Amino acid sequence: MTETVLAVLNQPSREAAAHDPAADAFTYEAPLGTNLQVQDLGIIRGDGVFETITVVDGRPQALEAHLDRFVRSARMLDLPLPDLDAWRRAVEAVCAELDPVHEAFAKTVMTRGVEGSDRPTGWVYAAASGDSTPARTQGISVVTLDRGYRHDVERTSPWLLQGAKSLSYAVNMAALREAVRRGADDALFVSSDGYVLEGTRANLVMAVGGRLVTPRTDIGILAGTTQADVFRFAEAEGIETAYELVTMADLRAADALWLVSSVRQAAPIRLVNGDEQAMDLDLTEQMNEFLLSRES
Ligand code: PLP
Repeated sequence: MTETVLAVLNQPSREAAAHDPAADAFTYEAPLGTNLQVQDLGIIRGDGVFETITVVDGRPQALEAHLDRFVRSARMLDLPLPDLDAWRRAVEAVCAELDPVHEAFAKTVMTRGVEGSDRPTGWVYAAASGDSTPARTQGISVVTLDRGYRHDVERTSPWLLQGAKSLSYAVNMAALREAVRRGADDALFVSSDGYVLEGTRANLVMAVGGRLVTPRTDIGILAGTTQADVFRFAEAEGIETAYELVTMADLRAADALWLVSSVRQAAPIRLVNGDEQAMDLDLTEQMNEFLLSRES
């Protein structure tokens, strides 16, 4: 058992050759070792895809939904398709190898590999998660930031890779720093034509007149695994759910708002652009109980 675990895949995709035809499906390596090459396109261009999977008491959550999205993202980047059997086994293996902690995460990463090699690089990394209790119980503050793309960007300009979980997160991290400069905890992106999109690493869910509403997933945002499970929870509770185009006026009129994502789960929003937002802490607690007790 160890605090952080890294499994490097020998053949991340069956559409490309193995790194070592004689080696095992994956090998454990030291997380700070020399397992990555400096010419890897994932490092020098952010050219690759990833997933961050919540691990509760050693169990990866929503694993199949994450793996499905991993494949969708790889397809959007024209990467060879991940060998899901190999990835599933590597995720389960690192989770089993991790020190027993209540909440952890596993990251699957597949890059285009070293330029000219025609072999993707793949690894799964797992470690204990930070404490999300303050965000879940006290709420977070957000500011809205213009993403600079229209809401139909995914259709008009698919090469911008909006909606893919690519490794190019420098923009999201810059938005997060801008949010912090403005005194908030996180940013909520808005399209250049005025539709509310998603957080820097999370989806928006709103309570509106007894329903739960989230922005439509065809507007250049990530289809969230946590949001999908929040809707599963809502449907089991008899709460109606909907995917809609959401304007700033809709956001202001909502009864409650959450940013939902793997690891942090459901974080209620208490301030939007400095304005107080009502929170539903009971519903938040129920959502988080449901999310943290998912069996798969
Ligand atoms: N949107 C963005 C931009 C994200 O980075 C993430 C998660 O990393 C999400 C939404 C939420 O996705 P999930 O709930 O599957 O973690």
